Parts: sequence; C-alpha cells; structure tokens
Amino acid sequence: MVTTLPAATGFLAVASPDSGVALRPAFAAQGSRTVVRESNGRQHLYAVLLHAGAVPDGSVARRGGTAVLLAGELYNQPDLCSLLPDGAAADSDVHLVLALLDRYGVSAFRLLNGRFAVVAMLGNRVLLATDHAGSVPLYVTARPGQVAAATEAKSLAGTAGVGVPPGARSLAALPGARSLAALPGVCQLRAGMVLEIDVAKGATDVHRTWRPPLERRILPEGEATDLVRDTLRHAVRARTGTDTPLVVISGGIDSSSVAALTVEAAGGATIDTLAMGSEHDNEFPEARTVAEHLATRHSEIIVPTADLLAQLPYAVWAAETTNVDIIEYLLPLTALYLRVGDTPRRILTGYGADIPLGGMHREGRLPALEQAVSHDMATFDGLNEMTPVLSAVGGHWSTHPFWDREVLAVLTSLEAGLKHRYGRDKWVLRTAMADLLPATTVNRPKLGVHEGSGTTAAFSALLVSAGVPPSQLREAKYLVLQALFRRVVANGEHPDAVDFAKTVDEVAGMQRRSVG
Ligand code: AMP
Ligand code: MG
Repeated sequence: MVTTLPAATGFLAVASPDSGVALRPAFAAQGSRTVVRESNGRQHLYAVLLHAGAVPDGSVARRGGTAVLLAGELYNQPDLCSLLPDGAAADSDVHLVLALLDRYGVSAFRLLNGRFAVVAMLGNRVLLATDHAGSVPLYVTARPGQVAAATEAKSLAGTAGVGVPPGARSLAALPGARSLAALPGVCQLRAGMVLEIDVAKGATDVHRTWRPPLERRILPEGEATDLVRDTLRHAVRARTGTDTPLVVISGGIDSSSVAALTVEAAGGATIDTLAMGSEHDNEFPEARTVAEHLATRHSEIIVPTADLLAQLPYAVWAAETTNVDIIEYLLPLTALYLRVGDTPRRILTGYGADIPLGGMHREGRLPALEQAVSHDMATFDGLNEMTPVLSAVGGHWSTHPFWDREVLAVLTSLEAGLKHRYGRDKWVLRTAMADLLPATTVNRPKLGVHEGSGTTAAFSALLVSAGVPPSQLREAKYLVLQALFRRVVANGEHPDAVDFAKTVDEVAGMQRRSVG
C-alpha cells in the first residue's frame, strides 16, 4: 500500500562488533529522527532513521540474527508477495525484503523494483544494497571492525565522526563502489549493487543486481506504443496512493504523460499539478493547456531569477554533486520543492524519460541516437539526478515513473527507429499518449527544465556580470559548485550559512587573475 511518504526516507547506520558507537547524522532531508539499536550476538547495528510522523513503523524488520533497514519503497509488492508462502510477511516493504532474503539470499535484490537503499545485518556480515538505478544514493566508509553507510554523504564526512581514520582500508578499489574525490575515504555504492562485508575481517563481496539492456527489440508500431503505455501506466499506479498525488508538470510530453496516467490512477479524484517558472522564462501556457485538458487542480509558482540562483547552495546540499549540468537541471526543481508547502506530499515527475529515449538528442540519424542512448545509460550512475533528497529538503517524497525498472528496460530496449520516427523525437511515447493529451502537447518539441526556467542562462549571466570571461564560464560554474560542496557537504554547514554572492565573487576574482 502506497502512503504519502515511505516509512523511512534516509538513514545513517554503523555496524560493528564493538558497542557504543557514536552517531552524528547530518541530513539535508527533513524528517523525524529515531535511533535504532540491533544486536545479534556477533555485531551491533546502530542507526538513525529519517522518517515522517512519530514512529518509523515499517522501516525495520528483524528475525533471528538478521535485521534489515530500508529507506524508500518498492513498486512490485504483489509480484514479490506471490513468491512467499505466507502472505503475512508483506505488511511492509522492509518485511518483504526480510522474507525474500530468507528465501533467496542475496539474490533477493534481483527481484526488487523500487526506489530504495537498504542496510542489513546478517550474522557477521553487513549487506548494503541500491535499487537498479541507484536512485537513492548510498555512501559507505569501511575499515576492519566498522562499516558505516548513509543515504547522504555529509553524514560520513569527517565532522560526523564515522569517517575512515588515516591508514584504514578503503573500498575505493572495489567494483561495487566509487570513491568520492571531494570526500576522501567515502565511497558511493554503484547502481543495482549489493555489497556484502564481513565486518570483523573486512572481507568484501559484490553482487550486481541490474544492468541496462544492451539488446534492442523489434516490434510493430502498435505493439510498441501499447507496451510503452501499459508499462508506464503500471509504474504510475504503483506510485499513486490513496492521498491526492501531485505531479510537477512543464507541459512537455514526459511530465504530461505522467499527469494523464496519474489522473487515470486516481480514479475520478481530482489530482494536483504544479508548474514553476521565473519572471523571464516559463512554460506556464503549455502547462496550463495540459492541466485544463486533464481537469487537474493546477497552480503556478514564480521564482524570481535572483532567488533561484541564491538556492544553488541548497541544490548542492541536497544532490551532493558538483556536476554543472546536473545541478542546472536540479536547481529549478529544488526551488520548486522548497515552495510546495508544509504538508508532506507525494510528488510524481516526468524526470529521466529523455535518457532511454534519446530525447535530448535532437537529430534523427539512428546510429547517433543509439550511441547517445547507450552512452547515457552507461554513465548515469553516480550523478544523483534522481535523488529523493532534492524534494526531501522541502519535506516531500518524489518518484519518477520513467525510471521504474520495467519502464526503463522497455524504453531502453526499443530499437532506435521506434524512438525517432517520421521525423519526430520520442515518437513511441508521443504516439502512445496521443489519445490522452491535447495534440499541441503531444507534438511539442523538447525543452529541458534548465532551459524552460532560464536557469542555465541566468547562472551564466551572473558569472559574466561578476567579471568571468565568457570562455571561462564552464570552469567558473564548476568552481562555484566545488566551493559550495566543500561548505555544505564536506564541512556540513547549513546552506543558509553560505554567502553565495561572496562565493561567486571569489571564483570570479580567481578567474580574472588566471586569465589576466
Ligand atoms: P525536463 O528537463 O523538462 O525533462 O524536466 C524534468 C521533469 O521536471 C519534468 O518531467 C517535470 O516533471 C519537471 N519539470 C520540468 N520543468 C518544470 C516546470 N517548469 N515546472 C514544474 N515541473 C517541471
Ligand atoms: Mg521540459
């Protein structure tokens, strides 16, 4: 059963044979915090769970020497329950994971379609697991005698007190995790991965649970469009609960498709939609067209450009990345999520459709389209584009149906000629949704959120006005993000403590000196 927010949305956990480990969590995500202590005679698992409401009911499950913590949620519970002899095991997602671990061992994680990070204690081992897309980032520090894992890297940074001491063994060399250059000793678990660690010995095993499909399917047009619509419909249903869902829409085909299917899933109840823009750039008329067609309760939020840029420290705080492109996509969404209101909401987005469909690739030659899709599917991991922390800084839970495990597999695996056809980008999706949306929406060309909100242009203009030579813009943007990362992630400062204008001036000064 889907509730407004999952039972837990984040955690910091430490496993050790020693007792009395001190935890100093640092989360950008809002929520109540509850300390959990588990012990199985061989080791202890101490955790701080981040959750909505008073008690994190349904985020911890234990039986025998095993304890499982889960942040996030599953989307294929009915299928998973059908694998278990006693339906009673399924009162919550975490109990389902425990029961599946019992039955299938580590390969249980190959069965899950969800948006989650898991830490489990089994005998003298610890399991850490990400979903197929690594959509809930999971960070790790490990040394013989102690493994720490957290859904936000800042909880593992030096100040949190669970960092790797000098000379300790690092997990960086393992295929299951990548080390973070900006946070020495901290690794990020890869997407679709289970890392199994014997805490006392420090011995490690990795198990891959998902891989983007490399093969391509050939289907007749009608079958392909039916498959896309049905799979996406299922993914939206699995993400829609009894509470009124909110869909953030730009009026483009991706978010409008999600909105149309959410209206269907709500079965007659009115859903909410929300569009955001700046005073200079917005897609309000296009979003309104969709909202009127679908009869949603629609609102618009105007974020002045200066306010938008001033929220860059928040975007870095939430997404924990210094990738310029990613932060430019995520900044308008950060600003939006911070303005949704005080009541926690379940938010559906159209995020990520362009990656398997090659939508950002505006030309039709199939080899280039295929290359773009293959490249993007091979390199998405670790960018944190899908992180739930972005909406959690506003107290909300976001979920992206286009990155549902089954939707992603279907979209990725369609042969390129179904993605670009009759001169149209994302042909298969546009055609699949033609009956549910206005023709102008179905035919609308792609506009990225960073373009539609004017974010990229405004960030460039800010740096140029601070004196950055136009040829140095990209580098300057990166340096600004790096400086912000140091403050709000590595040093654990609150974004409000960062003087953003001063950070920009310092970077611009450095750039002028290096050029002049
Ligand atoms: P895009 O880069 O346009 O694909 O944006 C990714 C997702 O962010 C969309 O599918 C929407 O769910 C959301 N989004 C983009 N632009 C806006 C906007 N102006 N207002 C509200 N939500 C948006
Ligand atoms: Mg768009």
